[in-house]
Amino acid sequence: MLAKTFSRGGRHIPHHKGATNSKSIVEMPAPKKVIIPLQQHIGAPCDPLVKVGDKVKLGQKIGESLHFITSPVHASVSGEVISIAHEKLLDGCQVLSIVIANDGLDDPIASKHRAISKLSAKQIRKIIKDLGMVGLGGAGFPTHVKISSAKPIDTVVINGAECEPYLTCDHRLMVEKGEELVYGLKTLMKAVGASRGVIGIEVNKLDAIAGLQEIVRSHEALEVVALQIRYPQGAEKQLIKAAVDREVLSGCLPSEVGCLVSNVHTAVSIAQGIRDGISLYQRVVTVSGRHIHDPRNVMVRIGTPIQALLDFCGGINGTPAVVVGGGPMTGPAVVNLEAPVVKNLSGVLLLGEDEIAQDENLPCIRCARCVDACPMGLTPNILGLLSSRDEVVKAEKLHIMDCVECALCSYVCPSRRGLVSWIKQGKKSLVVAKSAEQQGEAN
Ligand code: SF4
Ligand code: SF4
Repeated sequence: MLAKTFSRGGRHIPHHKGATNSKSIVEMPAPKKVIIPLQQHIGAPCDPLVKVGDKVKLGQKIGESLHFITSPVHASVSGEVISIAHEKLLDGCQVLSIVIANDGLDDPIASKHRAISKLSAKQIRKIIKDLGMVGLGGAGFPTHVKISSAKPIDTVVINGAECEPYLTCDHRLMVEKGEELVYGLKTLMKAVGASRGVIGIEVNKLDAIAGLQEIVRSHEALEVVALQIRYPQGAEKQLIKAAVDREVLSGCLPSEVGCLVSNVHTAVSIAQGIRDGISLYQRVVTVSGRHIHDPRNVMVRIGTPIQALLDFCGGINGTPAVVVGGGPMTGPAVVNLEAPVVKNLSGVLLLGEDEIAQDENLPCIRCARCVDACPMGLTPNILGLLSSRDEVVKAEKLHIMDCVECALCSYVCPSRRGLVSWIKQGKKSLVVAKSAEQQGEAN
């Protein structure tokens, strides 16, 4: 098998997927109460559509916003609304949330079964919006916005790279829900008018590659592309280069080269939404790391407290050095285990001291390893320094906004410099400075 990859930077990093990659997805019973944050996506937060004391059904829309860049939220159990208040998320941020006491009935909202052949592109986009579909790979960008590009799209690329260590939820979905994934891919192709669908999968998932190749054999417009194991191949620009050999230039979006990229889980959820009318109220989360008793891929209701999910996996084993929400390269530290599982939470990792790299910020020895590793062709050593000094105008000239925040520069740095943390902060400061500048011009 001739596996493809992207052209610049990147590394093969240990993937630590062995604890869960061959375990089937298990479904966790719904908890006694769920906490549904009104913002689980990039964009405007939702307004509640219910009040305390209301009875809600499983899958019912309970929050939405009139803004375009937003996504509604839905009840993940049936029961009674017992609180609408600010709740702490896993990173400690407070977000207005609806808390529902589960009545244990899973009484569902009436749902519609549909076939994509009978739907127009516009109807598909509306259904995807109504069902609360967002990018489930980490970003949480509303899918209906992504598929509303004015630019012509000819190719939809499914991101089956899952290049972050430990995570295997997409892998298991590709193995166990291949038909749904292909249905979701065809739905997205119809929504954007694309004639070609490509599923890019790294070769550490040979069972997924074989299974999906078999499924797409009868679909002329679809293909499975085997990818080398290389981080960060799941970043959109790197995936597009690897899977379809198109280069997305600095400051441009995938649509500029006729591509739309979708996460595996998002495509599977879209299929279930279109076919069975199921809104996005559950997802698969990989629970792994040295400090969990029974590492698993768990289908869990959105709003389930993380502690309850860990208990379902046998509980914490010993004392983890850190709990990470998502992959270890890009996920935030979890500071609140009572926080709810949200739509874009792909993993909960309980890592030991030897599984994490702490920033030490020793002096730069100018080895240029960070420059060699950067998949965006940036100079992370200089960008980190400029950001730490708040010299963001200079950093902008060196294309700081192209940084995909993959953390590879920090990972390879022998001086353990916190490059990615500084660069992230630099990007935020630059956005604030630009918006202040625009405000000033408008006044
Ligand atoms: S975090 Fe940014 S600067 Fe560092 S390697 Fe990744 S893309 Fe390059
Ligand atoms: S990898 Fe670290 S030590 Fe080497 S040039 Fe980059 S910042 Fe400096």
